[in-house]
Amino acid sequence: GAAAAPPPPRQYKLAPQSELRVEVLPDVPLRVRLVAGTAEIFGTELPPEGWVPIPPRSKIAIFTWHGATVELDGVSESEYTSDETPMVIYVNAHAILDARRAGARVAAVQGGDLEASQGPRVIVVGPTDSGKSTLCKMLLSWAAKLGWKPTYVDLDIGQGSITIPGCISATPIEKPIDIVDGIPLEMPLVYFYGHPNPSINADAYKVLMKELAKTLEKQFSGNAESRAAGMVINTMGWVEGLGYELLLNAIDTFKANVVLVLGQEKLWKMLKDAKPNIDVVKLHKSEGVVLRNSKYRQRTRSFRIKEYFYGIANDLAPHSNIVNFSDVSVYRIGGGHQAPRSALPIGAEPVADPTRLVAVNISTDMVHTVLAVSYAKEPDEIISSNVAGFIHVTDVDIQRKKLTYIAPCPGDLPSRLLIASSLTWYEA
Ligand code: ADP
Repeated sequence: GAAAAPPPPRQYKLAPQSELRVEVLPDVPLRVRLVAGTAEIFGTELPPEGWVPIPPRSKIAIFTWHGATVELDGVSESEYTSDETPMVIYVNAHAILDARRAGARVAAVQGGDLEASQGPRVIVVGPTDSGKSTLCKMLLSWAAKLGWKPTYVDLDIGQGSITIPGCISATPIEKPIDIVDGIPLEMPLVYFYGHPNPSINADAYKVLMKELAKTLEKQFSGNAESRAAGMVINTMGWVEGLGYELLLNAIDTFKANVVLVLGQEKLWKMLKDAKPNIDVVKLHKSEGVVLRNSKYRQRTRSFRIKEYFYGIANDLAPHSNIVNFSDVSVYRIGGGHQAPRSALPIGAEPVADPTRLVAVNISTDMVHTVLAVSYAKEPDEIISSNVAGFIHVTDVDIQRKKLTYIAPCPGDLPSRLLIASSLTWYEA
């Protein structure tokens, strides 16, 4: 039969403290417009005029504090309103953080020590799909709206929001996060782990966290403004066993002084007992948070990689390039046993050195994988260096010893030292 006619634009009148929850389809555009009142999407206000395109596949809530009328145009996967939200609790948490920032700024002006002039370092924890990334966005956007420049730290290697998966990264947030463009990407500090799952090499994950924290600490010591604004740290949804251990590690490594626990009583209790000297606060999870199964998450990872090269709206054209094998050196972080069992004293077990760099031969196995371009000058600096960006291997010609890749920018690679990964993306 004939395709159904697209629905006409429709208006929703939202009561104070209610929200319109919308799921956008993967390939059908949807846009939203404020007709009356004020409303925000995850902490960023809708402009008073004009249509705002909502990126494909996103799941959003248009929330209003004081009441609003909004209009949707386009086909959505679902749309419904709700007046049950935890937003008042969230904004109260924001107010407490804000008071701490103000206190830190006063201390800095009065020449207080590093401790007193340090604003809140908030870490948001909870199981997958508890709304962690969303709460981080709100806290950052609300702070930025008041003129603070908090640092966003994303430790979620599975569904990170700063750059491609497999990375831990940080970036200053200087204005409310753009509804269309997302987190600003002018100057992110990115360390490459290379896998979407921390258990592959948990020790390397810890070392990279330590490196990122060290760099941020250095930046903060020379910048009272960002020090007072503090950090908002997003974490992985893995909260049991090794996942829990890594959370404790993250709290210590980044010297977090506020832990916000979303939607899990047990985790809150455990962290409270484990960290009696810092504030561990339990917050309600929003019923609006959309559950995503592992297949969906896998697909999202793939889209994030594609977006890096092609843009959110498929509006960028990546550049294809060819290098000789001899022009680059590819390394893998960790793995590989230090010594074969036969070379060890009797009874000793071979130990894998998790942060040892292993030179990798270029092979056709690398086709479709992502390689990171390191800022390191020497191979042994790779683990402690952040990365400039990523390339995607499109072909390996063993006979002619040539590797073909795409990169977001034209020209030579900024470095010849590359880091291998298990991240793949298949061009459709
Ligand atoms: P987590 O970081 O804990 O895995 P997210 O914050 O990424 O969870 O939320 C999961 C999904 O639910 C995201 O797509 C997010 O945009 C969406 N979401 C969060 N809060 C709401 C809400 N109130 N209404 C609609 N969608 C929401």
